[in-house]
Amino acid sequence: MSSFNFDVITLFPKAFELINNLGVITRAIDKNLIDVNLHDLRKYGEGSYKKVDDKPYGGGSGMVLKPEPIYKVYESIKKSPKSKTLLMTPQGKVLKQNDLVRWSTLDQIIIICGQYEGFDERIRCLADEEISIGDYVLSGGEIPAVSIINGLTRLLPGTLGDPESLVDESHNSSLLEYPQYTRPIVFKDMKVPDILVSGNHEEIKSWRRQKSIERTFERRSDLISNEIYKKSPQVKRVIEESNQSKKFIIGNEFEIYPDW
Ligand code: SAH
Repeated sequence: MSSFNFDVITLFPKAFELINNLGVITRAIDKNLIDVNLHDLRKYGEGSYKKVDDKPYGGGSGMVLKPEPIYKVYESIKKSPKSKTLLMTPQGKVLKQNDLVRWSTLDQIIIICGQYEGFDERIRCLADEEISIGDYVLSGGEIPAVSIINGLTRLLPGTLGDPESLVDESHNSSLLEYPQYTRPIVFKDMKVPDILVSGNHEEIKSWRRQKSIERTFERRSDLISNEIYKKSPQVKRVIEESNQSKKFIIGNEFEIYPDW
């Protein structure tokens, strides 16, 4: 048995063929670091038609997944000591990198994928957590489940060639990653910043941190909510510079500042 098991309850097991073609994930499966066990909900359907869905009480469009088949398949899954069950739903908590980090210390994740118009409300009590991958509605929980398997697997020890590559990346520290370049040094008149080829590791480190802060501020200022970042001299400088330019744009009539 692998060190980390994903057990997925789905009506569309074929959607997970993608996982076998995703580099890092494929390697993790080959190295026996993870197992992805697909549980075909259809097999647990009722009657000769293997019915898994039905019309909602009270009326309304579409079909919802019935509780019995999902409970049956759920009860058939062997639970590990450190196991959590996640229900894919646009009504859930929006997935964050922190969640993946938190779950990476478990040894099993059971993922329940909805379909059609969703599922019977009584399915919710099987879940430890209800997870959404963003504020939009997909047709099923399979793509959200693949996202979780992918994001979590790359955090597991032994999966990525270079564990250092996890340290700086976006969302690990609430800051987005700095700009990255590789060869050639000039491409279509766009040149790699001199500092990155200077060989001065201290200055490179400081440049990268500055760029991370600027980039986060420009693109996702909502991420700089942490007091520690607000107090850092580099962040303060970026905020001050930004306030100056806002004042300039708006003119002296209205002096509007970001509220942090
Ligand atoms: N009518 C439902 C949505 C059904 S979408 C509602 O308003 O809540 C069908 C299924 O796709 C859902 O049950 C869920 O499993 C999955 N799904 C759709 N969008 C999702 C999202 N943003 N995150 C996670 N799962 C999602």
